[in-house]
Amino acid sequence: MTNNTILEVRNLRTHFRTPLGIIQSVNDVSFSLNRGETLALVGESGCGKSVTSLSIMGLVPNPGFIAGGEIIFDGNNLLNFSEKEMRAVRGNRISMIFQEPMTSLNPVFKVGDQINEVFYEHDGLSKKEATAKAIDLLKMVSIPSPEKRLHDYPHQLSGGMRQRVMIAIALASSNPGVLIADEPTTALDVTIQAQILHLINELKEKVNLAVLLITHDMGVVAQVADRVAVMYAGRKVEEADVLDLFENPAHPYTIGLLNSIPSNTKYANATRIEAINGTVPMPLELGPGCPFERRCDSALKQCIDSFPVCSHVGTGHQVHCHLHSSQALSEEGK
Ligand code: SF4
Repeated sequence: MTNNTILEVRNLRTHFRTPLGIIQSVNDVSFSLNRGETLALVGESGCGKSVTSLSIMGLVPNPGFIAGGEIIFDGNNLLNFSEKEMRAVRGNRISMIFQEPMTSLNPVFKVGDQINEVFYEHDGLSKKEATAKAIDLLKMVSIPSPEKRLHDYPHQLSGGMRQRVMIAIALASSNPGVLIADEPTTALDVTIQAQILHLINELKEKVNLAVLLITHDMGVVAQVADRVAVMYAGRKVEEADVLDLFENPAHPYTIGLLNSIPSNTKYANATRIEAINGTVPMPLELGPGCPFERRCDSALKQCIDSFPVCSHVGTGHQVHCHLHSSQALSEEGK
């Protein structure tokens, strides 16, 4: 943790009660996020990345619950906050945008009214002051003719414009801290996707925003992330600076992910895309070992029995894999 750290997730465990047993959707996950930085949480659907973001927002749905850990935001553990205290944080200091903005925008209210709502709730501005600030925000997210757009309903805007409005709402606070973007461009076509990613990058620098980007798309990661945390079956398995991760992936799952995209620098000359063998294990089937063990060509004896501790394989580069633990190295040397 540095002075620039705004959010630190420590040993987070988020579980779901089901009739068949407890599902450990997020299992002992730790990472930190600095101001002016984008951290991408990457993994296949069901790996726990979205549940992690809902845990930070205090929005884990029933029958889910936080079983352990800490979420330190600006020096305070959010897990000790009351619902009233969390409401003051949500949409004010920590905001979230989703794949489909229509799920968050209210279809029966004009865009301007929905932005102004944030100003009324958190800043107590008058209608005139709020409208002037809303116009500034729409300009900041590059919406043309913002004065006119304030009077539009969400369905009158394109998908890209709606996502821009959501980003404007996320920035409406007087002191935005963290933007959680959950697959923000998955529903958009490639050109609009590039524009929205560019906008997120621009705002990160302009307002020193910390961005937690949730995505399954390594192409998106390459475009916007500064650092990457790779998740698999509820565990964080690797974390590194984006260039380091693409150039020197250490975990067999990360290597598989990178092999499955054609445009990665290291694998750009590959003649075919390789899929990762097998499928993600069912959550209730997970044992004490490495969750990737059944799909891993390099699995060792100890991979079945214990989840690997964190090994440091470079500056700021961590991996949970027995191939990199000192135990594996000493066994190799026998
Ligand atoms: Fe493969 Fe073992 Fe590493 Fe898991 S811990 S990725 S099974 S080598």
